[in-house]
Amino acid sequence: MLERGEVANSWRRERWESLRLLTPNWQSRLPGLRYDGPDPDGYMSMPEVTEFIDRFAKAAGAPVRTGVNVTSVRTAGDQFQVTTSDGEISSRSVVIASGACNRPAVPPLSAAVPSSLLQLTPFDYRGPGQLPDGGVLVVGASATGVQLAAEISRSGRPVTLSVGEHVRLPRLYRGQDVLWWMDAAGIWDQRYDEVDDLDRARRLPSPQLVGTPERSTLDLNALTGLGVELVGRLAAVRDGRALFSGGLRNVFSLADLKLNRLLDSFDEWALTSGRDGDFAAPERFEPTRVPAAGRLSLDLADGEIRTVLWATGFRPDYGWLDIPVTDQKGRLRHEGGVTDCPGLYALGLPVLLRRKSTFLYGIEDDAREVIAHLAGYLS
Ligand SMILES: Cc1cc2nc3c(=O)[nH]c(=O)nc-3n(C[C@H](O)[C@H](O)[C@H](O)COP(=O)(O)OP(=O)(O)OC[C@H]3O[C@@H](n4cnc5c(N)ncnc54)[C@H](O)[C@@H]3O)c2cc1C
Repeated sequence: MLERGEVANSWRRERWESLRLLTPNWQSRLPGLRYDGPDPDGYMSMPEVTEFIDRFAKAAGAPVRTGVNVTSVRTAGDQFQVTTSDGEISSRSVVIASGACNRPAVPPLSAAVPSSLLQLTPFDYRGPGQLPDGGVLVVGASATGVQLAAEISRSGRPVTLSVGEHVRLPRLYRGQDVLWWMDAAGIWDQRYDEVDDLDRARRLPSPQLVGTPERSTLDLNALTGLGVELVGRLAAVRDGRALFSGGLRNVFSLADLKLNRLLDSFDEWALTSGRDGDFAAPERFEPTRVPAAGRLSLDLADGEIRTVLWATGFRPDYGWLDIPVTDQKGRLRHEGGVTDCPGLYALGLPVLLRRKSTFLYGIEDDAREVIAHLAGYLS
């Protein structure tokens, strides 16, 4: 196992200080290691996550070579030739487990943002103290965007949040964590070949969730309550002005509709499984409030906004992979983790084999299947 940094590198180096997992502690499990602390319904801080993964690496006796950067993987006959910062390796098989979130995905229109503004990605952002005083435009309202918008707003800076398509979730539903409901109703175990629109499922933004000791909901209504101004999707930056799409009402209605459908499916599961009486009564949440006079543009040059924070998602980086197994958008082509290059496998990508594939607790089932295929290939 080659790792360019340390064990749990992404959690140590690429996350902001206040981040906690949005998955509850009982869901933090790796093969043979489960959370066994006093707070199964809590959410791990970054030091706790790195400690957990460190503990797993030791318990599993994983043969990790840290500080070894892979700079090229190519085929050489029926072998793979791997070039690393610590020499050459040849192997009959390679598993790509380099992560789904190696780089922030910043849209090209960022180049038109006036140079007087500070631009940051979640990889650069550590906390609000590093920002200049003044307004902050956060672009993207999925898990990262809503969490950073809330934190920056609480630091006293005016925040404008640009909202595109998003997934709204309450933290708790009928007294249970919403991720518990998804687990119980079998959603996370749904396989890639059962999903209606796999391409879409793989591109689905992360849900608007935060892990806090209070187990509070962080949806757009909560952000409006904090004083965050909501605007539409950032469509262009022209002559120093940010231009936002209209139609926030439609974007909100769609997210509310999907939320209600999901809650309906939980209620149905509770009834059919005979467990309805175990939970509080079904509830429905207030529709997302549409701002009375939503702005369609914002002057980025007049000093009101001092920082733009791109919470526009993450991408894998295959710059080191010299085998033609990626598509035009740079995504790895694979069928349940098996690429069309014999002996080359992948793990840890969105909906690789199941909806839970990119969660810590999702890796075990996927790894067993991918490694079974690999073992068959080797023998
Ligand atoms: C902001 C954020 C919040 C998240 N929150 C949660 C959560 O609450 N719960 C949850 O279950 N999951 C969460 N995730 C998903 C999380 O990334 C995965 O659960 C898990 O970290 C994926 O593990 P991985 O080993 O596949 O990828 P990574 O953790 O990205 O590990 C890949 C490793 O490969 C190394 N690497 C990459 N390229 C090379 C190379 N060329 N040579 C050598 N080494 C290389 C990297 O240094 C890295 O250590 C979150 C992700 C992000 C970005």
